[in-house]
Amino acid sequence: MQRKGSAMALQWTPTWEEVVVESHGIRLRVKRDKETKLLACPICGEGDNAIYFFSVEDLIRHILSHTKRIERHQVFVPTKPIEEEGEEEYEEE
Ligand SMILES: [Zn+2]
Repeated sequence: MQRKGSAMALQWTPTWEEVVVESHGIRLRVKRDKETKLLACPICGEGDNAIYFFSVEDLIRHILSHTKRIERHQVFVPTKPIEEEGEEEYEEE
């Protein structure tokens, strides 16, 4: 694998596809790169300011931090109350 060019440039050409991800009852329509499976923040966009996430959890946490500032935009839609069901990210012995 050869790396050339500036450090700012992407090392691959993203092929974005629109997918719907769901976690903790929150549904999001986001762009995902077919190659790397990286998720792009729909608010930050796909340009130079783009931020990519490997996991839905991280993406949602990031987007929730956006919504505190731009609550007018309906970027997420809670489909059910957050309870102790569904995916659990905490494991106890
Ligand atoms: Zn963002």
